[in-house]
Amino acid sequence: MHKKFSIFFILSFLSINLIGSSYWQQKVKYKINISFDVNNNQFSGTEEIIYYNNSPDTLNKIFFHLYFNAFQPNSMMDIRSRNIIDPDRRVMDRIYNLDKDEIGYHRIKSLKQDENNLTYVIEGTILEVELFEPIRPNDSSIFSLEFYSQVPKQIRRSGRNNKEGIEYSMAQWFPKIAEYDRQGWHAHPYIAREFYAPWGNFDVSISINKKYVVAATGVLKNLEEYKNYNTWNFIANNVHDFVWAADPDYTHDKIQVPNGPLVSFYYQNNSESMNENWKKLQNSIVEAFQFFNITFGKYPYPVYSVIQAGDGGMEYPMATLITGERSFPSLLSVTIHEVLHSWYQMILGTNESYFAWMDEGFASFAQNRTQFILFNDIYKLDSVNSLKNSYQRYFKFLEKDIEEPLTTHSDHFSTNEAYGVASYTKGAIFLSQLGYIIGNENLFSGLRTYFNKWKFKHPDKYDFIRIMEKQSEIELDWYIDYWIGTTHKIDYAVSVNDEKNNLIQIDLSRVGKIPMPLEIVVKYSDETKDIFYIPLSIMRGIKSFDSKINVHVLSDWNWVNPKYSFKVDTKKRKIYSIEIDSSMKMADVDRSNNYLLIEK
Ligand SMILES: [Zn+2]
Repeated sequence: MHKKFSIFFILSFLSINLIGSSYWQQKVKYKINISFDVNNNQFSGTEEIIYYNNSPDTLNKIFFHLYFNAFQPNSMMDIRSRNIIDPDRRVMDRIYNLDKDEIGYHRIKSLKQDENNLTYVIEGTILEVELFEPIRPNDSSIFSLEFYSQVPKQIRRSGRNNKEGIEYSMAQWFPKIAEYDRQGWHAHPYIAREFYAPWGNFDVSISINKKYVVAATGVLKNLEEYKNYNTWNFIANNVHDFVWAADPDYTHDKIQVPNGPLVSFYYQNNSESMNENWKKLQNSIVEAFQFFNITFGKYPYPVYSVIQAGDGGMEYPMATLITGERSFPSLLSVTIHEVLHSWYQMILGTNESYFAWMDEGFASFAQNRTQFILFNDIYKLDSVNSLKNSYQRYFKFLEKDIEEPLTTHSDHFSTNEAYGVASYTKGAIFLSQLGYIIGNENLFSGLRTYFNKWKFKHPDKYDFIRIMEKQSEIELDWYIDYWIGTTHKIDYAVSVNDEKNNLIQIDLSRVGKIPMPLEIVVKYSDETKDIFYIPLSIMRGIKSFDSKINVHVLSDWNWVNPKYSFKVDTKKRKIYSIEIDSSMKMADVDRSNNYLLIEK
């Protein structure tokens, strides 16, 4: 028995070590040249892609995304939008009603692997390619494409002529290699929202009528004039996407962040108030960048561009496309949110399809933190729990009974609303509540460690939670299992037993299914208070509290037990009130049973 155990122990130790050291990721280098015709909204292009197979597998196939093909009647995006019960208002049946010159498409004129013509099939937004020569582990191949594309009328994110009069919002605009990772290929069709791609370098040249100002991901390396055309050459290294926008009427302002990037702002002077807001935005964003660098890790790129374009707010490497005709608070909050996606998804390249909460939720949490610390004169967030509005949104949403777990693929939620609450709201609460479990100091320190360890990689939920476990010395698998993997709720209740011999018994019950550590605040008639802290046994550790707070650590609560009791001495002081979690950061769905007033 003992020997068996030892062998098992050694084997499992080895396999854990292997998993730990076996992280790999694909790499890609793009050289893209396009020639753009503003008269018919079409462009022809060439792409040379060097693809490095760093995986332990031999690849016989490769997949490309052809995102513009989504903007055609009867595409998956169109059919989904016409069948889901709560379609995105920007989409509805608009794709179905596009004319021939309004649809989007990518047509492949030629596709080669190292000079050999390849056979391929186009299925909607995915190009499936049979390789001429398999790519072996640690080998690479060069793919050459010639393509021809039409920019759709703007429906969602990319397209021409957005509602504010920006001519070209060029997101998801080139044939793009899908990601192959530890879970295999991610050739997901473009239905609503998922983006995930290999890390790489981009060298992009755009030839366009010289009346246009081009804003893009990366650094402008060269601008060359030839007859009526300008060729804009941008370089972006260590990114997983590339966006650009173009308009003849862009104003371009630049401002340098001390110890940070040069930030560009591209916007149209549509009105006096808009101009004022966009000028005022610039200093606030400089201040915000400095705060982000200290709080979430240092921004690693030399530039960032805030570009008026698109249909709301969408994040890209070193850039965002946002609509610009907004009040100042709205303009500032959307910009903060999108810039923070530089940390959550653009640098920590999580797979959005499966971990939308790790980019939307984390960006929302960081946005809330920034608004609370730097701009609370504008936003007036709750001083006890700055994220209170998100908690309330989650509680209100539960009344509809349409919740789905956060492990659902982004495009497979039954409603857009369930996706929104899972990724943005519950994702933000995930971090705020993690602060309640491990302490805020550990939370923020852990977020910086997560950034430094996983930047320019593809972390998943287990990579994140391991960082937090090491940071806090608390086991957190149960938390991720319940909060991410299920739709179970948190609900605890407090009651008291009659006072006997100057001792009052406090009885707690777990009404909801999710176990949580509890902080019981007992206030006394003399206005003093105590915190009674009850860790879970499965945490195998305890929270580190601020040393100024008077905390009594009680014995562990075994989660299988629905009840827990402890006694408080009332000889010297009478109890005034008892409350479960006065920080309000534990998402207890029924707070009516959290509070008792004892002495009236
Ligand atoms: Zn977002």
